[in-house]
Amino acid sequence: MRQMTALVKPASSLCNLKCSYCFYCDEANEREKNIDTIMSAETAENLIKKMFDFCGTNSSLTFMFQGGEPLLAGHGFFESFIETAETNRTEGSIINYTLQTNGTLIDEEYCRIFKENNFLIGVSLDGKKALHDKYRDLSFDNAMKGIELLKKHSVDFNILSVITAETDAYDLYNFYIENGFRDVQPIYCLDPLNGEKAEYSLNAKQLARFKKRLFNKWFAEVSKGNHFYVRDFDNLLSLLTKGVAEQCGASGRCNAQLVVESDGTCYPCDFYCLDKFECLNINKADINDILNCEGLKSFFEYEEEKNSLCPTCPVRSVCGGGCKRYRSLYNQLEGYCPQMDFIMHAIEKLREIRGN
Ligand code: SF4
Ligand code: SF4
Ligand code: SF4
Repeated sequence: MRQMTALVKPASSLCNLKCSYCFYCDEANEREKNIDTIMSAETAENLIKKMFDFCGTNSSLTFMFQGGEPLLAGHGFFESFIETAETNRTEGSIINYTLQTNGTLIDEEYCRIFKENNFLIGVSLDGKKALHDKYRDLSFDNAMKGIELLKKHSVDFNILSVITAETDAYDLYNFYIENGFRDVQPIYCLDPLNGEKAEYSLNAKQLARFKKRLFNKWFAEVSKGNHFYVRDFDNLLSLLTKGVAEQCGASGRCNAQLVVESDGTCYPCDFYCLDKFECLNINKADINDILNCEGLKSFFEYEEEKNSLCPTCPVRSVCGGGCKRYRSLYNQLEGYCPQMDFIMHAIEKLREIRGN
């Protein structure tokens, strides 16, 4: 079965919020080309048809809607997208949908669309109200209302939390438990691409401390047999037990991502939607040409310097130097790697879980 994923941006970097640390606004501001439209039905159709042409019958296609805020595209966009995907679905093929949202635009109609089409929704929520509101444009109450609607309609969802210098791991853990959030993904806040130091971004020591403390809570919970999915930790466990991880970069290698902006322009990775890595446009090129274009090649050739400890690192087999966007953080202090610090802390306990 051929599998393919596209990270689709129906509203590109357009958003109804102005979060202080928004990494995608940062990327979009670095580009010369301003893409601020809603994806047309024609572009959506080209993407869907070309993916099915490329994958053939009995394939598994995943459309991951992200932004900006993808729900700005409107109910009609998603209904039309789903209808076009159904019309073009090849024999024996499966279609999966996920969508990452700030949660504030979720309404009854969206919930109906999500439920009927088995969407998995990711909602951004950084913890308790005061912390969330500080950088996320006072959006806590509306995001929680969105979550209540998802629960009411039994829509599957998980929580994505941006971890800043102010996030306390125990507070966040308690917040998850109090609200019954047991499928979570921490995203570690980085400095902007121009290298300026931001007040919200983590430094190397803060990163290691946060991960170790959250890990301790997670381990105590899963040791009791309670389900609690934390993406980093479960990926590390999967690397240890099966030698594979679903999270891009977990083992230090880039996978080609097909990021599709609203005008059809493609990029190789959500962290690097930049002019120098611009790929061909889905309205003008086939998938095969995009996967072999200069933008994608230059992305794979581009390297961020690895930590000088990598060659002799005792946990290299389950890290491989990490995702290249995070290497500036891993490299911050001479003779120290926060990821090594964390993995050394966690690895024996993970082996205990593996042994159970
Ligand atoms: S909700 Fe997401 S896309 Fe919108 S400004 Fe905040 S971080 Fe950026
Ligand atoms: S930079 Fe990171 S997220 Fe992007 S493709 Fe590479 S490993 Fe994956
Ligand atoms: S843990 Fe740090 S030192 Fe070890 S391989 Fe990963 S990035 Fe390199």
